[in-house]
Amino acid sequence: MGGVTVTEQNADALHPAERLTLARKAAGDAGLDALLVSPGADLRYLTGYQALPLERLTCLVVPAEADPFLVVPALERPAAAASPAGGLGLDITGFAETDDAYAMIARRLPAGVSRFAVDNHMWAEKLLAFQAALPDAQACLAGDVLTELRVRKSPAEVAALRRAGAAIDRVHRRVGEWLRPGRTEREVARDIADAIIEAGHVTVDFVIVGSGPNSASPHHEVSDRVIRAGDPVVVDIGGTTAEGYCSDSTRTYAVGEPPAGFRELYAVLLRAQTTQTEAVRPGVTAEQLDAVGRDIITAAGYGEHFIHRTGHGIGMESHEEPYIVAGSSRALAPGMAFSIEPGIYLPDTYGARIEDIAVCTDEGGERLNLTGRDLVVLPG
Ligand code: ZN
Ligand code: ZN
Repeated sequence: MGGVTVTEQNADALHPAERLTLARKAAGDAGLDALLVSPGADLRYLTGYQALPLERLTCLVVPAEADPFLVVPALERPAAAASPAGGLGLDITGFAETDDAYAMIARRLPAGVSRFAVDNHMWAEKLLAFQAALPDAQACLAGDVLTELRVRKSPAEVAALRRAGAAIDRVHRRVGEWLRPGRTEREVARDIADAIIEAGHVTVDFVIVGSGPNSASPHHEVSDRVIRAGDPVVVDIGGTTAEGYCSDSTRTYAVGEPPAGFRELYAVLLRAQTTQTEAVRPGVTAEQLDAVGRDIITAAGYGEHFIHRTGHGIGMESHEEPYIVAGSSRALAPGMAFSIEPGIYLPDTYGARIEDIAVCTDEGGERLNLTGRDLVVLPG
């Protein structure tokens, strides 16, 4: 089924040691004495270590003026050393159950730390423990610094996202096997979830099956509603591959001939999404890309029914920078990966969304989801 495996070669390419050097430099440039990074996408990005997010502290410490080191519970040291982090020449220190890991890190930081930054998803209890261990230092968020490193994907990362896109495409191509009148959204979603794993993901991140009036609720997940002939159905699905990269794609299906007006709405949406996808190129700003689709939808009279931003960045997290949203003057640059997912939702009636992941290239954009975007009409 074309599962994605992590070979040593692409693991190296996905976790090059230079990221720690770049993080150190970025911290110094931002006036930070150290970055403190707990389990999550930032840690995995910087070291390749997918640590367990548990109550014991696991923390990558990146001082601006000294070598980085990784502090882990002693019982997890073998797992950390076996991960790509073990190949980075990084000191990995284990602490015993009775040690105070926070005090240990505070002692090991260069003297006179006045500002440290924590990853944006660090648990509050860990941040507070660091503040107590470093009472003279100011704590802030490392998000801006780490985002600038992560927002432009390397060719190896784009290749990993391409494989994730192909995996979720394989699932959309099979939706007709499961989506039919008489079944509930939940039953269909269960089959789709199994297929997401079979297609080459290690986790199912979300499965939205919004049928009939539920298709008008963008973040509807699933319910026990029984699908009926004539229903439009929004199917928005994604997972994470073994390499740690996410997929996310939406297609709208009709189970039999859809109700009056739906095909017209869908044609407008398809025109907006296609025009936006074709508008991707370096220098275009996030808000301009949002407007390209919103203007088309507004001109057709559906403006008030496009109630969310155009898209979100994607990589090791399924929602990350850059957000494709009004008010963001961030310019697209080669290597940025994000969704283009306009939708039109008529409350309590029906709705539709089309979503592809796109990558900004040197010349324009590349779509990573390649299933057809025409309305898929299944037997009703
Ligand atoms: Zn989605
Ligand atoms: Zn999305």
